[in-house]
Amino acid sequence: MLKNDQLDQWDRDNFFHPSTHLAQHARGDSPSRVIKTANGVHIEDRDGNQLLDAFAGLYCVNVGYGRQDIAEAIAAQAKELAYYHSYVGHGTEASITLSKMILDRAPSNMSKVYFGLGGSDANETNVKLIWYYNNILGRHEKKKIISRWRGYHGSGLVTGSLTGLELFHKKFDLPLAQVVHTEAPYYFRRDDLSQTEEQFVAHCVAELEALIEREGADTIAAFIGEPVLGTGGIVPPPAGYWAAIQAVLKKHDILLVADEVVTGFGRLGTMFGSDHYGIEADIITIAKGLTSAYAPLSGSIVSDKVWKVLEQGTDENGPIGHGWTYSAHPIGAAAGVANLKLIDELDLVTNAGEVGAYLNKTMTEALGSHPNVGDIRGEGMLCAVEFVKDKDSRTFFDAADKIGPQISATLLAQDKVIARAMPQGDILGFAPPFCLTKAEADTVVAATAAAVKTVL
Ligand code: PLP
Repeated sequence: MLKNDQLDQWDRDNFFHPSTHLAQHARGDSPSRVIKTANGVHIEDRDGNQLLDAFAGLYCVNVGYGRQDIAEAIAAQAKELAYYHSYVGHGTEASITLSKMILDRAPSNMSKVYFGLGGSDANETNVKLIWYYNNILGRHEKKKIISRWRGYHGSGLVTGSLTGLELFHKKFDLPLAQVVHTEAPYYFRRDDLSQTEEQFVAHCVAELEALIEREGADTIAAFIGEPVLGTGGIVPPPAGYWAAIQAVLKKHDILLVADEVVTGFGRLGTMFGSDHYGIEADIITIAKGLTSAYAPLSGSIVSDKVWKVLEQGTDENGPIGHGWTYSAHPIGAAAGVANLKLIDELDLVTNAGEVGAYLNKTMTEALGSHPNVGDIRGEGMLCAVEFVKDKDSRTFFDAADKIGPQISATLLAQDKVIARAMPQGDILGFAPPFCLTKAEADTVVAATAAAVKTVL
């Protein structure tokens, strides 16, 4: 086994980490974190520290760690058939079964699933399919995609553009011109404090209408949104938001993409976030929870309406010119089948709803009246605590205060609990595996309250 010093050196010398301060890491200012094993909601680092992972990796290990059923399904698939492609009508029992299982669970207007590897490439696929769709319909100008500020849809060229967070644009020459952004449904951060939730929804709708008017409806192909904003700060929408937005999109013949990379397969206590909010999407993006991250796999679920046009397109133009070598990779598909079975067998969607509600309630009881806690919000197994400098005047911390990172570091140091300091700098996010128990939720809440007390 490699010595820690050796591993740290190799890490700094060779490994280009994503979403990392490269210079600090290369200098050794921030420690290498080497994770060795995991079980349930706990991960163990190389020094034997047991950490309670209240963010399920990157909100993806939904069934929890160490599930032997999934590991065995992966091993069996690798032994029988590690790879074959899915071009020109090829498939495997695992990929065909998984597509059926996904459609059985998806909203009833959905028709087919195209497989990718991660959420970013799935959203990249979606944009291409939407452009193809409008070209087949002869609407060559209808190509722009509306996304929300604070939305997160990936890190590619188009998907990094869809993402509405400055960090992902800065110095990358993004967003691309085909993407335009509109207001996030972030009631706590509304400009006009006198607005009720209903008035704020009307304001978001007016902003969207104004954007469509400015750009011209005949230039706008689609709107993309997460049912609950995730990386943008874990922000559930105010009541009535999705119904009001959908009415506008229908009026202007704009497709709706529900990015369910985080919310798909149970995180909100329903199979899809679309079920939870009555969203009738034309395309649904899935990834993370599809395999609970036991293997990389994503998908674009397309509706009947979109599928019919794609079919027509191939009759007119030949095979669709879009494919990944690893689309529907058998090992990912086998992981997906085993994962969805496990979610059903253990009734984990119900547990996500029930224990998630408990986590949100107890977090609110413990921290709701703290003078530096401005907002506690969540839905299902998602929870966020937003810190403010002053609650009464709603004065915010500066990003430079690094309040979120300070609290998450304290939480880890004091009680070995992992929460995510969201990129905004003043929000602590929780997205535990669905198998979290109420006792484990109590541990998370008590540890968070203690960390907040230490820092603030
Ligand atoms: N969409 C959403 C809503 C996400 O949260 C993420 C990742 O966190 C993505 C897309 C991108 O997925 P990936 O990191 O697998 O490319």
